[in-house]
Order: sequence, then C-alpha cells, then structure tokens
Amino acid sequence: MTRKPLCMFRLFVLLLSVPVSGLNAQEQEVQRLVASMLGETPLYDDLRTLTDEIGGRATGSAANLKSVEWGLQRFRDAGVEARKEAFVMPALWLEESCTARIHGDVSFVPKVVAMPFSTESGPEGITATLSFGGHGSPEDFANLGTRAKGTFVLIETPELMDLAGLFREYNEAVGIESRAFAAGATGIVYMSSRPHGLLYRHNASRGRKNTHPLLIMEREEAMRVARLLQERKDLKLTAVIKTNSGGSYESYNLVGEIRGTEKPDEFVVIGAHLDSWDLGTGALDNGCNVGLVIDVARQIKKLGIKPKRTIRFALWNGEEQGLYGSWGYVILHAGELDRHVMASSYDIGSGRIAGYFTGGRPVIAAAVDRALESVAGLGPFAQVDAPIVGTDNYDFMMEGIANLVANQESANYGPNYHARSDTYDKVDLRQLKLNATVAAAVTWGFATMEVTWKRQTREDIEQLIRKTDLKDQMMSFGVWEDWESGRRGRGE
Ligand SMILES: [Zn+2]
Repeated sequence: MTRKPLCMFRLFVLLLSVPVSGLNAQEQEVQRLVASMLGETPLYDDLRTLTDEIGGRATGSAANLKSVEWGLQRFRDAGVEARKEAFVMPALWLEESCTARIHGDVSFVPKVVAMPFSTESGPEGITATLSFGGHGSPEDFANLGTRAKGTFVLIETPELMDLAGLFREYNEAVGIESRAFAAGATGIVYMSSRPHGLLYRHNASRGRKNTHPLLIMEREEAMRVARLLQERKDLKLTAVIKTNSGGSYESYNLVGEIRGTEKPDEFVVIGAHLDSWDLGTGALDNGCNVGLVIDVARQIKKLGIKPKRTIRFALWNGEEQGLYGSWGYVILHAGELDRHVMASSYDIGSGRIAGYFTGGRPVIAAAVDRALESVAGLGPFAQVDAPIVGTDNYDFMMEGIANLVANQESANYGPNYHARSDTYDKVDLRQLKLNATVAAAVTWGFATMEVTWKRQTREDIEQLIRKTDLKDQMMSFGVWEDWESGRRGRGE
C-alpha cells in the first residue's frame, strides 16, 4: 500500500475552517488542532521508520532499545520535552530459534514458534510422543485420560476471525494449560489459528511462571498431525527450543510532556505501547498508535496552543509481556496519582475509533461524549461503559484513575495479531490519520474541561469488580493474583 493522497484531508480542513469565527477561544483552539491533525504531518514516516527500519521490538531486545532512542528523537525533533523513565522487567525471554521434527510412522518438518516464556530444550531437543487433545475442553482431556501423560498434547483451534475470537483464545488457554499439566503432559502444541502457514507469538496463560515447552505449529501441518493421530499413527515430536532468558532487568518508558498553564500539577495521559513481539514488525500492534501519540504531541506543540492541565504522551514498554511499563509508571508517579485526571490507551490497530471503553464510570462516558463533539463529523461514536483488561489502561484502572481505551473496529487486527504478517502494509493509513485526529480532540478535551470525578478508592474498585466481569478478565490475563495479594493496584 502506498501513501494515500491527502486531498480529502484538505477538504476537511476547509469545511472545518468555516465556522471558527462563531466559536469561543477554547473551541477555536480545538478546531485548529483538528485541522492541523488532518493536514500533512510526519505520521506515516514515523510508522514506516519504526516498523521497516527498526522492526519487531520485543522488550529486552536490542531493537527495543533502539526504538526507545527513536521515540526520544521524534519527540525532541517536535520540540516536545521528553524523558526515559526506567522500570524493572521481572524476567527476560526472547526466542533465539525454534524447530520441530515429527517422526515415527510418518516423518515431516512443520514450522513452529515457541510461545512466550516457553522453556528451553537444550541442544538435543525434547522428544515426546504426540497425543491429540481435541479443543482441550474438559471432555477432551477426560477422553484422553492417562494417555496425555508424558506427551506433547496437540490442541486444535478454530480459525481466528476477529477480536471476539482473540479474547476467546486468551480465555480458553487458561483452562487448556491447567488441564494439560494436571494430566502430566510434557508440553503443548497449539495449532495456529491462522491459515496459510502464518505463525504468531501468542501469550501463554501463565507468563513467566510457565515450566513447560509450549509451541505453535503452522495450521495446515498441525491439521495433518491431528488427522494422523486420529488414524492411530504413532508420532513423536522433537522440539529444539533456544531462548535468551534470564532474570530481571531495566527497561524504559518514554514520556513526552507539554506543561499545563492553569493546572500544571494535574495530568492527562495519552499512551500507546512501543514494544511488540518479534515475528512481524509491530505495525498494527502497536506502531500505528505510537505514531498517533507522537503526532498529537507534535501538532499541539507546533500550533503553540496551551493546555490547562499537563499532558503526558507515554510510549510504554513491556506491555506484551505483562503490562509492565505502565505498571512501572504508576509506581514511579505514586505521589501524583490523585492528580491524574485521565489516562487513555490506543492499542487496537488502525480500525475506526467507534468510541471508547470508559471503565464502568458513567461520569467518564459523559465527559468523553463532550470531548468528541469537536470531531462529530468523524463519528458516529458511542461509549462502551465497561472495564477492559489487556492493555496499558490496566494499572491506571486498578489505581482508581479514570481511564479510556479507544474502542476500534477490529478490521484486520485479529488475523495479523502478533503474527509475521503484522507489517506496515497492513495499516489503514487514512483511518490512522482520522483516529489520530479523534485522539487529539479527546486528549485536548480532558486537558481543558471542568472535571467532577475523583480518583476511586480500593472499595470503589472492589465494587467495580463485583458488578462486572472484571475478575474473569483479570484471571485470563494472569493479573488477578497480584491484585488480590495487594501487590498491584490501589491499597486500602
Ligand atoms: Zn498491543
């Protein structure tokens, strides 16, 4: 895909410039910002250099460190004050290589990748009999019985079509993995949920607490294995998994800042995660929204308009491995959290922003409605007033801070999620620009509007957990235990 012509945006600019004279000063500022976001900006160049020139940037890799310097330079080129903020990653895990060989009654070599936090195999590899675990349901494991013990269990998956399917994959992995290891399985081989040999690095349910080899096998060859096993062929799998793994280390968030004029000690955060997995180049997840955050900062700075509150433009790290960067931020800025008015996250590719997840707080949903009035022409918008787990709003939510996640149409996000195919050409550039415009309007709105809400107490958050499906979401993302034990989230 080549760069889209910008004439459409010029048309927007013309349309938007007409009524400005009838607006008050604040409304004029937001309209100038909107027009500037729709005009030509370096957004696409930012995305291209981050994805094509730096590429996949798993936290802990050299490419990730390069991306931090890249972001710092982008902010500075825009005249936006920016700094690196260190935080601790609890464990290093990077795949160096991963191969598998099927042998026994039939021999072939399927393509595989290791799942994050899979164990290593040693140079000789791990060899075990393959067993067929169906979809990994309780009935499937009951049928498999003691035959699961000491085997690599192959788990069949439905083809991933959309975001709902992606959430289902995350949810089901928790049960599948606990049943397999309770049955004494040596390891798990998931059938890729994407066809045509596409591989991706999907998070396992136990994160760094995992103690087994975990693989994803290309879909067509995994189907072949499943058929052969159902024909009662004896198959063994030898997996050679080499990782670069180790203990805790320091990583960095990047925080750009434009100081508020009237309430400089109150903060509005707009963020996207800079890290990605390493098979593709992290374009939909989440280079496009890194570009969006930088572009909002740059255009505000360029226009010289001044927010009332301080805006922080956060590029998070460690997101893919357990939301560690944004967790690090709330720890580092603990003394300022009462004065955080809003934290927003952008992390669902380049599909149209249809509104925001507003966290189960009607007052916030109403405030977003107001902030979106200045970009009503890019709607319709509707808020989903529910808490959502899975990206960098999480620690803000668990600290009681009003938080938003852009609710984007899933478009091509699901099929390319964490996959080799997540590259620049998949990004809908035109829609990305419109999304950046929406993000600018919402950020500006929260940086200037009157607010009536306060930071929630632990009791408020506990009530949110009781009222919604938040606990189930936290369990499927492996973050429930840390909240329950008081290690993570707002204390009493
Ligand atoms: Zn993401």
